[in-house]
Amino acid sequence: MAAAAAAAPPFAAGDSPPPTALLLPRTTTTAGAAPAPRRSSASSRLHLLLTAALAVATSYLLLILPRTPLSAAPAPAAAARAQVKLEKPVVILISSDGFRFGYQHKAATPHIHRLIGNGTSAATGLIPVFPTLTFPNHYSIATGLYPSSHGIINNYFPDPISGDYFTMSSHEPKWWLGQPLWVTAADQGIQAATYFWPGSEVKKGSWDCPDKYCRHYNGSVPFEERVDAILGYFDLPSDEMPQFLTLYFEDPDHQGHQVGPDDPAITEAVVRIDEMIGRLIAGLEERGVFEDVNVILVGDHGMVGTCDKKLVFLDELAPWIKLEEDWVLSMTPLLAIRPPDDMSLPDVVAKMNEGLGSGKVENGEYLRMYLKEDLPSRLHYADSYRIPPIIGLPEEGYKVEMKRSDKNECGGAHGYDNAFFSMRTIFIAHGPRFEGGRVVPSFENVEIYNVIASILNLEPAPNNGSSSFPDTILLPSE
Ligand SMILES: [Zn+2]
Repeated sequence: MAAAAAAAPPFAAGDSPPPTALLLPRTTTTAGAAPAPRRSSASSRLHLLLTAALAVATSYLLLILPRTPLSAAPAPAAAARAQVKLEKPVVILISSDGFRFGYQHKAATPHIHRLIGNGTSAATGLIPVFPTLTFPNHYSIATGLYPSSHGIINNYFPDPISGDYFTMSSHEPKWWLGQPLWVTAADQGIQAATYFWPGSEVKKGSWDCPDKYCRHYNGSVPFEERVDAILGYFDLPSDEMPQFLTLYFEDPDHQGHQVGPDDPAITEAVVRIDEMIGRLIAGLEERGVFEDVNVILVGDHGMVGTCDKKLVFLDELAPWIKLEEDWVLSMTPLLAIRPPDDMSLPDVVAKMNEGLGSGKVENGEYLRMYLKEDLPSRLHYADSYRIPPIIGLPEEGYKVEMKRSDKNECGGAHGYDNAFFSMRTIFIAHGPRFEGGRVVPSFENVEIYNVIASILNLEPAPNNGSSSFPDTILLPSE
């Protein structure tokens, strides 16, 4: 295990390219290229023959290769399927927490695969925002904003000005910036219903989390009850029926933390999520509305195995700098540090990196410290006063602890750099606005806000998604 980790240097010189750039085709422009050198006629004929042979081989390859578009595909030619029973467009946005991309192949997941087969999905998954944590990502999906803009920069953090502390049960509007979809909908006279989603209990704009349409978080509610409540909304008279609905499941994140991504417990959790998707589909079919509803199944982030020897201990940096525990606002995998005001921040970063690179700190080479403004810009993790000034990025699967202990735990974690494939999750969408059997290039979850706004004919609030993105993924409305 250690040998495999040592094979690849944790941080190559310079930043890794943005994950989306890896998926984009290299544009090979021929225009303006230098003219080919002239050849003799014999070599020209040979060249022609070779070119023809290559062309035949290429077209054959194109025929046998799976038709996975690698570039941002143009809008599909077909139009949206006409809705049969429902008069208005409807979106159900479902999150399965910690559903790492690839889990859908861990077991037979017939219901999820029905959505994939007859719907549109992201080729190599949905790219989360950094930090790849639950609250920042759910709120990015709902607002189309990076955490530096929507304000939920971690699952818990202090406000450096007021000293107040944000936790996952903070519902005061002051923490939650931006405009989530349920607010956009309510402000424009569209009924929304939330069965759990980070931020949904916050009163904002015209959204006051009404009892009939907004559930207060309670992790002990059985998944079946959540699905059945969503189905119940489709029994309401059409003027009371919500057009935007959220549904949230804590699994398989819960199991992922305990046992890591490759344990049979994950397979069981994935099967159970598939059963819930099946229950939802069956309920919508019974009501004759399954083909009328746009179902969007996503996760917030992935999961990577963490184990015994992949640890960095901050107290081993003492010969370079003695870090006090109360400077460390979040430890792992997102290491966030705010030293006292009288200390030089660049000095703290330099001393930490010197120690980490000295070869004398165990696994020091797998952690690198940054002033937040020096983080790779693709992480979009600098422009908020809430983000602590010093951020550490551990290599995939490494964890940071204050000091060595006897515990020897294996499990799973997320929160790492969003360039790691292990942090990716799923995007699977099915309904009248999604072409069947279509696979689109992977994209960042901040694009989803505009997609849903477009389906519901809502004027989107300003956000970090691209305004042209919905046209690349949706069938044109009738
Ligand atoms: Zn988690």
